[in-house]
Amino acid sequence: MNVEIRNTDTSKGKGLFAKKKINCGSVIFEEDPLVSCQFSWNAAYQYRACDHCLRPLETAQENATRLTGHFVELPYPECCTTDKSKIVSCIVCGEQYCSLECQTAAFNQYHRTLCLQTTERHNVHPLEQLNEAWKQVHYPPETSSIMLIVRLLARIIQAPNQDAAIEQTLQFCHRTVNEDAELAHNLLGEKFANQISLLHNLLMTAIPHDGIEQFLTPAGFQGLLALIGTNGQGVGTSAISQWVTKSSDLSLSADEREVLDKFIDNLYDEMDEHSGNFLNNEGVALYSLQSSCNHSCTPNSEPTYLHNNHRLSLVAIKDIEEGDEIFISYLDECMLDRSRHSRRKDLMKNYIFACKCPKCEEQVEEPDITSEEEEDMSE
Ligand SMILES: [Zn+2]
Ligand SMILES: [Zn+2]
Ligand SMILES: [Zn+2]
Repeated sequence: MNVEIRNTDTSKGKGLFAKKKINCGSVIFEEDPLVSCQFSWNAAYQYRACDHCLRPLETAQENATRLTGHFVELPYPECCTTDKSKIVSCIVCGEQYCSLECQTAAFNQYHRTLCLQTTERHNVHPLEQLNEAWKQVHYPPETSSIMLIVRLLARIIQAPNQDAAIEQTLQFCHRTVNEDAELAHNLLGEKFANQISLLHNLLMTAIPHDGIEQFLTPAGFQGLLALIGTNGQGVGTSAISQWVTKSSDLSLSADEREVLDKFIDNLYDEMDEHSGNFLNNEGVALYSLQSSCNHSCTPNSEPTYLHNNHRLSLVAIKDIEEGDEIFISYLDECMLDRSRHSRRKDLMKNYIFACKCPKCEEQVEEPDITSEEEEDMSE
């Protein structure tokens, strides 16, 4: 291992530290998540991904055709990495997977508990009701999913060693009941905060309770919402961006390269026009190692998805010396560019901590006011 978890020098908590020098651009570590799932609206809008690992189920050409709204014929089809011959479906509920390996893993980890029974086909299954209720309180741009909680609980129910699975889940929970309530409230937003009990009730009817009683009390449920709000890591996969990456590795003449570059520019313009910012299969996942990384507004690493599925690769974006703490940013790029005051307000609201990173310390003299433009953006 390149890294170890240990106590930080500055704060009371733990952090992730480099055990040797890591060069900018190299992979620090890779890990599969405990659980992951696609965002509810992303799935509803026909972004087709493996139900287990989020790998695209469309070919790059199908992807481009859907996102532009018209038929697109891609040159160099050999650069498409989607292998549709491997796609399999659950014979009971029809859920699709990129491979038999994913179907088997899903079934053994959580799907046996969550597979919708055929006898219930004529009624709306409680899990679908829960998903619908979630969609009504959590519109795009999506940041989380109640289905991550569902899978996390089903994973405990199915675990060969339930105590160990509970222990593993509790590693992500280290806050007070009041903090959990505040975080759960913030995850749903002011408008929907009173929907927590509705979601809680639907969850109670949607899954068995054996062995997970402690998570199903009102406080336990708020703790789970806080858990996914603070530890959930966004995942994005895309057939078309894989095709673009592969096609940039082709050995082409200068003329061919120019034609291809023009084609790609034009394709992105058209996708942007038809589909806006939402080009990827998107979801959220829970990672054991990555979630031990603390935040910095000037991070030295970033999570990437080099395998085009939910396997996370943490990549160094600066040279990291032995003994350095590894930081990621909990804020998106747009928020990172905003003032110290805005960043700290967001981190306090959504993660309950006061950022003391080098960038925040450097800007400590900045006035604590949010510009009007920034106020508008945070509405
Ligand atoms: Zn898969
Ligand atoms: Zn099924
Ligand atoms: Zn900071």
